[in-house]
Order: sequence, then C-alpha cells, then structure tokens
Amino acid sequence: MTAPARTLFVTTALPYANGPFHIGHIMEYIQADIWVRFQRMRGHTVHFVGADDAHGAPIMIAAEKEGLSPQDFVARIAAGRKAYLDGFHLSFDHWHSTDSPENTELSQSIYRSLKAHGLIDVRRVEQFFDPVKGMFLPDRYIKGECPSCGARDQYGDACEVCGSVYLPTQLKHPYSALSGAQPELRASDHYFFRLSDPRCQAFLREWTAGTDRHGELRLQPEVLAKAQEWLGGGEEGGSLADWDISRDAPYFGIEIPDVPDKYFYVWLDAPIGYLASLKAHCAKRGIDFGALLADPTTEQVHFIGKDIIYFHVLFWPATLKFGGHKTPDRVNVHGFITVSGEKMSKSRGTGISPLRYLEIGMNPEWLRYYIAAKLNARVEDVDFNPDDFVARVNSDLIGKYVNIASRAANFVNRYFDGRLAVLAGDPADPLTMRVAGLEAAVAAAYEGREFGRAIRLIMAYADEVNQYFDARKPWELAKDPARRDALHEVCSRCLLAFHRMTILLAPILPATAARVEAFFGTPGLRWEDLGVRAGTASPAQRIGRYEHLMTRVDPKSFDALFESPTATVEPATGAAAPVPEGAVAASPAGASDAPAAVSIDEFERLDLRIARIVAAETVAGSDRLLRLELDLGEARTRNVFSGIRAAYDPAGLVGRMTVVVANLAPRRMKFGVSEGMVLSASADDPAQPAALFLLDVDAGAQPGMKVQ
Ligand SMILES: [Zn+2]
Repeated sequence: MTAPARTLFVTTALPYANGPFHIGHIMEYIQADIWVRFQRMRGHTVHFVGADDAHGAPIMIAAEKEGLSPQDFVARIAAGRKAYLDGFHLSFDHWHSTDSPENTELSQSIYRSLKAHGLIDVRRVEQFFDPVKGMFLPDRYIKGECPSCGARDQYGDACEVCGSVYLPTQLKHPYSALSGAQPELRASDHYFFRLSDPRCQAFLREWTAGTDRHGELRLQPEVLAKAQEWLGGGEEGGSLADWDISRDAPYFGIEIPDVPDKYFYVWLDAPIGYLASLKAHCAKRGIDFGALLADPTTEQVHFIGKDIIYFHVLFWPATLKFGGHKTPDRVNVHGFITVSGEKMSKSRGTGISPLRYLEIGMNPEWLRYYIAAKLNARVEDVDFNPDDFVARVNSDLIGKYVNIASRAANFVNRYFDGRLAVLAGDPADPLTMRVAGLEAAVAAAYEGREFGRAIRLIMAYADEVNQYFDARKPWELAKDPARRDALHEVCSRCLLAFHRMTILLAPILPATAARVEAFFGTPGLRWEDLGVRAGTASPAQRIGRYEHLMTRVDPKSFDALFESPTATVEPATGAAAPVPEGAVAASPAGASDAPAAVSIDEFERLDLRIARIVAAETVAGSDRLLRLELDLGEARTRNVFSGIRAAYDPAGLVGRMTVVVANLAPRRMKFGVSEGMVLSASADDPAQPAALFLLDVDAGAQPGMKVQ
C-alpha cells in the first residue's frame, strides 16, 4: 500500500458561463472532489482545477440582450461561483476562465501545431446569415418549418415534433430567431481540423482502447464501445468527419492567428481551458507548468458527463496529441441526475436549486453523502429521491456513524476524564482487526470511483461497532466500580473505531471530519493514521467535550426546497431575485380589493415578453391546465402550464402570439416545471371558468420583444 506518490492533474467539465450552477454540476464536482480528497489523504499531489467556459454565440447573444459586454456578462456569472464551491466543500485549487490570456496563448499555439502537422484545411462553406444582425447564424438560432413533417418553428438542426435531423438550409420558410428576418445564404472560409486524416484515426483507435499507467482501461467499457462505434470498425472503414473549428466575426472567442475576423469555435478552446486553468494555478503556486505537463508521470484525469463524451474521447485527445501536449490518462464519465425519476436538462437548469439548498440551511454534507452513496464507476443516471435521502442520512450517518461517538464519549468523559485506554494491538479485538481488510477494500473502492461500495463497507463496519457496544452493555458496566477497566476498554475501542471510520469517510464528509479531528485533537488526518501498518498506533488518545456532529434531516425541508421559487430564473440572470409569486398571480381585473400602487421600479422587475405559442396540449390529470411551449426568441423554447383549458382549444392556440411574464421563477408542478406565466384577463368568477381571455399582439411584434 506504500505505492510511490502520484502527481495528478484533475479537472471537471467546464460549465457554460450563461447561468448559475445546477444540481448536475454540483453532482459532478462532488464526485471529483471525493476522489481528489481521497488521493490527497493518501499523500499524493493533486492539482484540481476548474474554469468557466466563457465563449461562443449563446453568451454573446445573451450579453447583448442585457446590454452588457460578453466580458461583463461572464464576470457576473463568475462572481456567483464561490458561494457554490465553498458551500459544498469543493476543494478546487483554482477556478479560471477560458476568456483568459493563458487560454488564448495555449489555443493559438495548439492551432499552430495542428497546422504544422498539415491537419488544418480551409474550405468554402455556405451558411445562413442574418442581414439585420449582420452575423452568421448558429443552427439553434435559425428556425422554420420542418422539411419532413411541416411542423412550424423548428430549430435549424432537428425537428422536435417528428425527430428528423437536417441542415438549416433545408428548413422551409426559415427565419432568424434573433431578429425574425429571413436569412440569406452566404459563403465564407471555414477552418477544419482534419480528423479524417489516417494519423488521427490511428491515434484515436489506439488511445481510446488503451490503458492508464496502472493498467486500467482509460475509458469505461461502455464509453469505449461508444468511441469504437464512432470511429467505425477497421474493416468497415468508418471514419470521423473533419471538424469545423472556425466561426466568423462577430463572435465572442479567440482569434485564429493570422486570419482576420475568424475565431475558434468555442468547443476548440473550451477544453484547452483545462490547461489554461492549470497554468494559472501553477503561476500562483510557483510551479513550472511546462515541466509539470511534460513529466510523463503526471496523470491527467478528466471527470465529465455522458453528454460530452464525443468531444472528450475524440476531439480532445486528438487536439492534444497533434497540438504538442500530453494526452489524458483517464476520462471518467458519469450519468445524469434525475429528481424522483424525472429527467432534468442541463440547459434548463431546473429541479433542485443547489443555492436554495444551502440558503434554507440544508447540510451540504448530507448531499455529498447521498450522492456518494448512489455513485459507482458506471455511466448510470443517479436518482435524487427525497425519501431515500432522508432514510440514508438519518439512518446511516446519524443512526449508525455519529451514534457511536455520542454513546461512547459520554462514559469516557464522565469516568476517565476524556482519556482513551492504552490498547496495544490486540488480536482479540474484533474492531481493530477488521480495519486492515476494510481499509484496503475502501481504498480500492474510492480509487475505482465505487463510492457507493465504499459507503456500504464503512456502514457495515458501523453496524459491527454498534453491535459490539450493545453486546458489552457499557451502561451496566458503569454501575459497577469494579468493572471500570472493562468500561474504559469497550468505550475506547468504539471511539477508536469511530476515529478510523472518520478517516475512511473524510473524502465525503470533510467538514464533519474536521470537527472530529478537533474532538480528538488529531488535526490533519491522513490515510496512514488508520494505523493498520505494523508498529503504527492510532493518533487518537483522548477526546474533548462531545458536541453534536450532525443533525438529522427534517423531511419538511424538502417542501422549502421544491415548492419555493428557485434562484435559477433565467440562464442570463445569475443574480436574479426571485419574484414573489403573489405579485403577479393576482388577477387585477374585477378584483374588489384593488392592489396597492407600485412604483415604476417595482413594475420594471417584471420581465414581460412577447411569446409565440409553438405547441399546446392538454395535460393528463388536469382539467384546468394546458401545457404550452413558448418561443421567447431564446435559444430554446419554454415550457409553461397555464390554467386556460376551459377557455381555449389547444389546437387553435398554436402559432399565435401573446404576452408572458418571462422572469417568473420556474415553478415545479406535479406535471413538470413551468417556466413563466401567460397573461390573461378574467372576470374572476369561478362560475364562469371559460371567461378567460389571452392578450393579443399586433402584427410585427417578434418573439422575445420586451413589453414595457
Ligand atoms: Zn418534423
């Protein structure tokens, strides 16, 4: 177990800087953080870095909508990161941005190296251009009728109604989602990374199927299978298409050297941001970045979600290989997080708001523990289930683990002044003897990201310790002054076992571990303090006053977590204050008690927008609601539930324009998440549910226009 110390460079996927973190980000950071903390406790050196992915058209467009420069826009998002990182005990060494001098320099030098290898091609590409905005339109900003089924308002890459995939140029009656203008086809030069080159193909075949320096496959079996499918079987001659890595001005990104008005596509420079963040971290710590990266023993490990496998197991290693850098040792892929079985979407960012979780005082270590208990090394989705959460935290953490300390500490403080009995390695002591085998199994589980297994092993040990305590009945021993030694021994053994369990759990529960360290006066615990090697004793020799280490979860906290508005109103407004629901829910028409006057500032807190109803349908299980899909001129449509079923036939609503409260905090309902509110007039008479009237919009207004 005394393997030579390792040097690890560990990253998590870079979050797109157009909104606050959602629970999916936090799950990934917790997974990586547990692994990193385990490696540090083993005495290894870890450089754990993250960064904001700041570039690209969506951020440029979102910033423009708010009247901000893209730099100011991403700076505002970045300013909100610390609350999450600190709040969930995420121990990144450095957090950077892809919009940084380090990333510019690295991206340009990598590009020059690709070019020197003859892997860059220039080709003429025809693309839709928005004549009003003066820019080429990304696929998601072109809409029109599906060429297959004729559905209206479909994106430029795929139809959400019939599922066909097509080129934006195949859309019928295309329009720009930004200006509403009819786009024109224009040609321009695009730069391609020639991934179809035999050198790239050969390298990727070898790299994806390879092993890390410990002889483990560098990709999980299901990820490798996917990569091989994309690479195509050798004899079938399948191959990767070349990759378009350039975008025309205006674009928020890094300039392509020596080519005016061309920028790197955001997906080229985003992963290079891993290196940029490491570089900035090295500069801060006085570490030689070049030497660290060039050192063949430095292990490069990426944690990512399953939605970005393609980029990380094909584009990224090829970029590094031919860009003149070391290639990743491992890419660890995890699944998505669902809430009570319901899929959440990264871009929508709904579900559990991590910030709200912290704000209502829920313990971040409960979430770390719960997520760890559900994680394994496979690419499986993790389901967040509130009942399961309460059960695991309350019965495992409180009922088993913390319980040991609270039961034994009382006797040791009362009768032995906090001193633990001096216990030599005693073959008769089952609690000590179990630790060596347990340690090895738990370490292997952490190393292999089988955190759920690590927890099961530790909790099985907690059961044994509790049984040992119960069987020896210290409360009876305490009644007999002649049996003080036996009482001392039993309670000391349980506290030593608790101390060891704390070391085993410390990667998951760092704050609790710190409190336990203070309780025993053994700061800075490391894995070797488990004392399983011959001749090493536990550093725990006495205890202080026992204070509660952790409280139980109150199941009622989930009402506050789910029912109240989340802070993730709109990707663009990280700091948006949730608008109290009552402020807009009251329908003023005919209300006898007229609402109090509001100031213009109060009115302006409402973001009223023109919306096009793209789809409308009844909701199974509700005779009041219609589910509407609304186009607000954003990169995606919104889902809104509206209580207008009695008044409107859904088919008649599709295509019409209306007015929406766009910054109403997303509301989780039984049927899904509602992301806004459609305004309507009503007589406010329950006897006439059909007397409801949507607002109309004059011709010319476009989706997304502000109503003021
Ligand atoms: Zn279609």
